[in-house]
Amino acid sequence: MVNLILFGPPGSGKGTQAAKLVETYQLLHISTGDMFRAEIGQQTPLGLEAKSYIDKGALVPDSVTIGMLQNKVDANPDVKGFIFDGFPRTVPQSEALDGFLNGRNNPVTALVMLEVPDDELINRLLERGKTSGRADDADESVIKNRIQVYKDETNPVFDYYAAQNKAEKVNGVGSIEEIYKRLCEVIDRSL
Ligand code: ADP
Repeated sequence: MVNLILFGPPGSGKGTQAAKLVETYQLLHISTGDMFRAEIGQQTPLGLEAKSYIDKGALVPDSVTIGMLQNKVDANPDVKGFIFDGFPRTVPQSEALDGFLNGRNNPVTALVMLEVPDDELINRLLERGKTSGRADDADESVIKNRIQVYKDETNPVFDYYAAQNKAEKVNGVGSIEEIYKRLCEVIDRSL
């Protein structure tokens, strides 16, 4: 089994690249952001709780997010592996994921981080906000909050996997195709 974590700040292109990588490596794409938006669309209790955090640019509590992720993994026992996009976003989420995957003898294979400068992230997210319908993309102060939360709470996830020699960085600026090739080179080396 192959378990890839596609990592990087909001607006770094994780969703775009994950969509291409799942085809190449025949993996199941799990985006916690997409899962929350589906729950919000269906107005489930989980969705309503998540929305109150997402609209502010804050993280949804680990207790909610970890359970949701675990259910999704358990619901797909026959896949070749997963691409995790937007998870783990905190060290406790990383510990939960490791505990959970190691217990199934299917550890994380690699984490690949897309590196993009802040000003480029802000431009991309404001541009996406014009058409995405996402409230968290429409407001510059919410975007800045998401980037700050990433630095404070999510960046340590990189160090957590670097300590296991599983973390790599890739330049996330360029054409979609160029970045995709850079990711494939790194992933192929770790397989
Ligand atoms: P982006 O990477 O562009 O911020 P996502 O779709 O990955 O977009 O996430 C949108 C929002 O959903 C986040 O700002 C956060 O509020 C919530 N979210 C997504 N994944 C997680 C997670 N693993 N832990 C906590 N909150 C999350």
